[in-house]
Amino acid sequence: MRFQFLGTGASEGFPALFCNCTVCSEARRLGGKNLRLRSALLVNDDLLVDFGPDLLAAAQRLNLNLWKVRTGLITHTHEDHFNPDNFFLRPQPFGGGPNIPVMRLYGPKDVAVELAAKGLDLEKARLEIQTVSAFESWQDNDYNFTAFRAYHAIDHLEALFYSIEAGPHAILYATDTGYFPEETWQALQGHSFDAIILEETVGKGSYNQHLSFDTFLQVLERIRDSGLLRPGGRVLAHHFSHSGNPLHDELHAFFAPHGAEAAYDGMEVVLSD
Ligand SMILES: [Zn+2]
Ligand SMILES: [Zn+2]
Ligand SMILES: [Zn+2]
Repeated sequence: MRFQFLGTGASEGFPALFCNCTVCSEARRLGGKNLRLRSALLVNDDLLVDFGPDLLAAAQRLNLNLWKVRTGLITHTHEDHFNPDNFFLRPQPFGGGPNIPVMRLYGPKDVAVELAAKGLDLEKARLEIQTVSAFESWQDNDYNFTAFRAYHAIDHLEALFYSIEAGPHAILYATDTGYFPEETWQALQGHSFDAIILEETVGKGSYNQHLSFDTFLQVLERIRDSGLLRPGGRVLAHHFSHSGNPLHDELHAFFAPHGAEAAYDGMEVVLSD
């Protein structure tokens, strides 16, 4: 299995569109790993997690053709993770229309509701929508998935995160969540991962429906104590906001002593057999 980060920024992007704070100004000056689009992850070349507003920009920047994506996962319908307009680009003349492979899209019930409200013709878009709930497991193509409940958008939306298994490999994509709910820790028992992608949104700030530096380390400690990380397994932080987080090099320096890494846009990880 291999995977690539199409974006590693929080909802406002990094640097943020309308911000001249020191961090955003320095990020613009230095460029490179300091430029972060909205978060999404491509697994192999046929599975995409989250379809946000930067999907086209990411595909162009990384020279990707998403034609082969046959399975999609949506974590939740916040605008930085789910932009329904992406799916209107599948039918002709915008996309390949009947020639593209059917994509099965899995996510909380809000996904189907929003696409229906926008009037998407699923057949023309070559799209099948499957609503999934927390703690449900299923199989699609060569992948096994389990959905877990995130602590996020409480009393507002259903937010999920996912384990993805293929052959001998397993990864966890935990974006947009505070400290995991107890029922999620219970459900994770017995799973183990080659890589855990874990959000760290607010850095020095504090907000209980995202992780900060402090709560990221608390989750990481429990991940290790619970045996969720396989030997040699990697922990990759992402979904960084300019509000509370420093530039990439400082993020790297913060995570390294804890055995974690700061992901960056375009970063590719190959899990060898
Ligand atoms: Zn987000
Ligand atoms: Zn800023
Ligand atoms: Zn969110």
